[in-house]
Amino acid sequence: MKVLVLNAGSSSLKYQLFNMESGKVTARGLCERIGAGGAITHKRPGADDFSEQIDLPHHGVALKRVLELLTSAEYGVIKSTSEIDAIGHRVAHGGELIKESSIITESVIKHLESLVPINPLHGPPAIAGIKACVELMPSTPQVAVFDTSFYSDIEDFRYVYPIPYEFYEKDHIRRYGFHGTSHRYVSAELAKAIGKPIEELKIVTCHLGNGSSITAVDGGKAIDTSMGFTPQEGIAMGTRSGSIDPSVVTYIMKTKGYTPEEMDDILNKKSGLLGVSGISNDCRNVYSAALNGDHRAELALKILTNGIKKHIGAYAAEMNGLDALAFTAGIGENQANIREWVCDNMDWLGIEIDKEKNENFTRGIPFDISAEGARVKTWIIPTDEEYMIAIDTQRIASKQN
Ligand code: ADP
Repeated sequence: MKVLVLNAGSSSLKYQLFNMESGKVTARGLCERIGAGGAITHKRPGADDFSEQIDLPHHGVALKRVLELLTSAEYGVIKSTSEIDAIGHRVAHGGELIKESSIITESVIKHLESLVPINPLHGPPAIAGIKACVELMPSTPQVAVFDTSFYSDIEDFRYVYPIPYEFYEKDHIRRYGFHGTSHRYVSAELAKAIGKPIEELKIVTCHLGNGSSITAVDGGKAIDTSMGFTPQEGIAMGTRSGSIDPSVVTYIMKTKGYTPEEMDDILNKKSGLLGVSGISNDCRNVYSAALNGDHRAELALKILTNGIKKHIGAYAAEMNGLDALAFTAGIGENQANIREWVCDNMDWLGIEIDKEKNENFTRGIPFDISAEGARVKTWIIPTDEEYMIAIDTQRIASKQN
């Protein structure tokens, strides 16, 4: 079976074509600057990359060009689009009603449209990508895989905010959680790596990238997560503040006269590692500045790592125990120093890492960095959201036939 996985951003479209028999990607690529020019990079294993500047006024045109490339004599990997058995879409927000990956129907599209007010950034491009596929490949089954669905079993006292209840009932303001596809994949891979059924494990997964979140997975089910109504809640990120006293927001708006849009911009694009360090949102740059003695860079990293530590402790308390901890995504998979700072002084909880293994880890595979005899197993687990989407798509599309 061949599955095309699409991840549509506001001005981008990422794609990967999977051969599900081998589990391998046969082609992948990125369309950028959609709606404002346009460029495509198309890659195939063992062949030169192909790049072009091309006018991409909307996602439909981008998808059409992707399908041309995938089937072209020169750069293609399939003869015709009829070889694509199913399409899997990454969809950030499924709201409260959709609890698992679903075949896309008219009513699913309508539901996604109804969520746009609470998902204004990610909703419209995902819907545009889906509609473009429906138009270009109407008979190919399409599946939506939601970032939020891993959190659909979370109990209400963990997702209802302690504000007047009507905001939840009438306006759907609640914690939803994001990055669920990554946390679901990583927790399953971690259980496999440890060699125990996931049903027997209490796990914390730390997805640390430019956006970061932490999830508590008890017996294979997510029971709590750090992101909330939007991906803004939780730990400090590249440019997002994460959780802060809400009165800071109203105070700044009142005293500086900022509009909601200006305040959103500050909290989403000018805060986090960038805001505190004044140097960069990229953890590598902030770390090298800290090594050179820059106090604010070190402060930014301490805020980040202390936030991660607090979440791990809180989730161990919520689960009444902890068996395993996973680090994933750009920072989690690559930055030994961040893992070390997080795990330092956590032996009371059973977390002890082997510094040598942590520094000399092998990239791209699950890697055990636990110290000998540590009660909690700590692993680096490379995430693969696209593969998880492909697996769900295969499972759900196969049932359709
Ligand atoms: P996004 O949330 O945009 O998907 P990523 O998962 O790519 O982000 O993570 C970006 C972060 O990961 C950056 O802060 C960067 O410093 C860090 N990072 C990515 N690759 C590496 C690497 N090879 N070595 C060290 N840090 C890395």
